[in-house]
Amino acid sequence: MAIVIDQELCNGCKRCITVCPYGGVELREGKAVLTDRCTACGACIEVCKVEAIRSDIKEREIPDFSEYQGVWVFAEQQDGVLNRVTFELLGLGQGLAKELDQELSAVLLGHEVTHLVEELEEFGARTIYLAQHKHLTQYQTNPYAKVLSGIVSEHKPNIFLIGATTIGRDLAPRVSMRLNLGLTADCTELTIDPKDGSLLQTRPAFGGNVMATIKTPYSRPQMATVRPGVMEAKRKDNTGQSKVVEKKVKLLEKERLTEILEVVREKKPGVNLCDAAVIVAGGRGVGSKEGLKCIYSLAEALEGEVAGTRMVIEEGWLPAERQVGQTGQTVRPELYIACGISGAIQHRAGMLGSRYVIAINNDERAPIFEVADWGIVGNLHEIVPSLASALRERKAG
Ligand SMILES: Cc1cc2nc3c(=O)[nH]c(=O)nc-3n(C[C@H](O)[C@H](O)[C@H](O)COP(=O)(O)OP(=O)(O)OC[C@H]3O[C@@H](n4cnc5c(N)ncnc54)[C@H](O)[C@@H]3O)c2cc1C
Repeated sequence: MAIVIDQELCNGCKRCITVCPYGGVELREGKAVLTDRCTACGACIEVCKVEAIRSDIKEREIPDFSEYQGVWVFAEQQDGVLNRVTFELLGLGQGLAKELDQELSAVLLGHEVTHLVEELEEFGARTIYLAQHKHLTQYQTNPYAKVLSGIVSEHKPNIFLIGATTIGRDLAPRVSMRLNLGLTADCTELTIDPKDGSLLQTRPAFGGNVMATIKTPYSRPQMATVRPGVMEAKRKDNTGQSKVVEKKVKLLEKERLTEILEVVREKKPGVNLCDAAVIVAGGRGVGSKEGLKCIYSLAEALEGEVAGTRMVIEEGWLPAERQVGQTGQTVRPELYIACGISGAIQHRAGMLGSRYVIAINNDERAPIFEVADWGIVGNLHEIVPSLASALRERKAG
């Protein structure tokens, strides 16, 4: 047993029982005892005021990772066009690299994609690792994972970021598995721990009810994926100062495992919330599909897009492509108007990057007001139409 409770010291305060998420401690005859559900997570140790609980697990020694340097971004491209998440990750990477005083690099895989190097430079990459081969023309799991793992293990970056796109979600775990690394998927925030310079990887956990911050002290590089739209792309003109490191690629035909016979493009969704400058979003407070009319009218007056919470999508009042949040889209408009939205953490996860937020809600205690720049307490069915008509009058006048 890794956790030990000293029965003499235990005063039966039950703090350990309250804090244990697994039911791993119970009270017997006024003293705390471990049950077979204890996972040795150590949560009880921290809350025990009389120091009756201790662990006999020896702390693992953190290896010397000083040879792992630099912040790397996987430059995802398809058909010779970079995915916008690449620029967002470079924007994030600029800040991380500056804080660590390390270099920001991009790693680009493909075939005849040299023309993309300039764009990567413009968004801050100082070194671009370029691997080109005809088998890398289109994304295929095995060749990409093999080539990328090889480059990463040779050059030893400190941090490696990949977009949580369809490709990234397939590639990142395979690379991390090949290199025996931890991987934190779907991060919403990445910062540097001022104490030891490690990467603090924050992501929703337990169904989005809490935000967990994860560290990977025992392996390098520290790998994370980030959903598109969460970070901000920032131009940083490096042109002419960057260097390209061309990597030789050896791929055998048999290593492909699959062959792409035909690519059939899915019809694009009718709405692109990620690029919208103004979003007017409705929540359950709109009351019905009919109730969304005023939301559409305000969006039209502001030349914006309409979005909704998961509740609105589940009710069938809006199509799924318009859902904002943890399981919907992540948006970063200049203006986000939340109407009849309570502001659940899962919804906020998708709109916190908005520049300005206006919340309209008839409950002054609604959590949405905590993240709003301006709040209007009242009935949205009165406020939204009068806002829309005031805007229209102003435009007309
Ligand atoms: C794993 C998981 C993932 C999730 N992913 C998402 C996600 O991606 N996106 C998402 O949105 N949710 C998501 N949810 C659901 C989320 O937890 C909330 O349930 C949801 O966001 C609440 O939607 P809402 O604000 O429309 O409804 P409610 O929470 O019911 O809020 C309605 C609000 O409208 C106000 N109101 C009512 N009538 C009026 C009126 N006439 N005028 C003004 N205000 C009024 C009320 O005061 C209330 O604050 C997820 C949940 C889980 C567990």
